[in-house]
Amino acid sequence: MQKAYLNRLAPDVRALAEDLEYALGFEIIVKVSQHLPRRAADEPGGLECEVDQSGARIVIPDPDWFPDGSVLHELFHVRRFLLEGIPLLVDNKAYVRWNPCVSSAVTYHDNCMEHLVIVPEELCRRPERLAHWERAIRQVWGTLAVTASHEADCRPGALVNWAFIEHVLPDSATRREAVTVLDRLGFREAAACFADALAPVLNDKEKLVKRWFEHLHLQPEMASLRYLNVWDNACRETPLNIVAAAARSGAQRNQRPAR
Ligand SMILES: [Zn+2]
Repeated sequence: MQKAYLNRLAPDVRALAEDLEYALGFEIIVKVSQHLPRRAADEPGGLECEVDQSGARIVIPDPDWFPDGSVLHELFHVRRFLLEGIPLLVDNKAYVRWNPCVSSAVTYHDNCMEHLVIVPEELCRRPERLAHWERAIRQVWGTLAVTASHEADCRPGALVNWAFIEHVLPDSATRREAVTVLDRLGFREAAACFADALAPVLNDKEKLVKRWFEHLHLQPEMASLRYLNVWDNACRETPLNIVAAAARSGAQRNQRPAR
């Protein structure tokens, strides 16, 4: 990471950045982009990270906006995808109904999945980040609260954001409002079932993705799992429908009686 940015970090975040760079064998680059979407009135824009098999970049909206807690969050994303080998969920360009909305939806779902694992660790290290996440989840449920009950499109968002409350912010001040909205939309049982189904597979991305798609009624054909290997400079993608078919044939093999 460029020295000017590295020097602005708290010692533990700086150490994480340096350890990651040492393990990965390259520098994590900080890049400024004016096009990051604004997430809150008092923030110029959220940070993002970009990863591929040959590098990692932390994208910031302004050279002066480099909050420690947000950098920690992005470093956790980098660590998962590049050091721990956790696959990213990406859109499948061969999907017959592909369009840019499919691409952004798949990115949204991957972020939501990753946050179920990353944010609890982030809150352990930076309890003050609770205010940021409480504000984010309050905004989401505020939007869902004004959604008409017949809009089936809001089902995935409602279920996903209930899972976030259940697994990340169980004592959230927004919990009561979320339950009211789920009741009104008729999704309370489905949301509880979804959150329960995720609990045992949070640390197994392949299984997590499979359950995610089943419960949210998403088409597996729209997405792939992308595995990045920085040491071999390699990128491998497996379409989800192939992962699902392999899992099914594996299950059938397991059910075959022994002779
Ligand atoms: Zn994130």
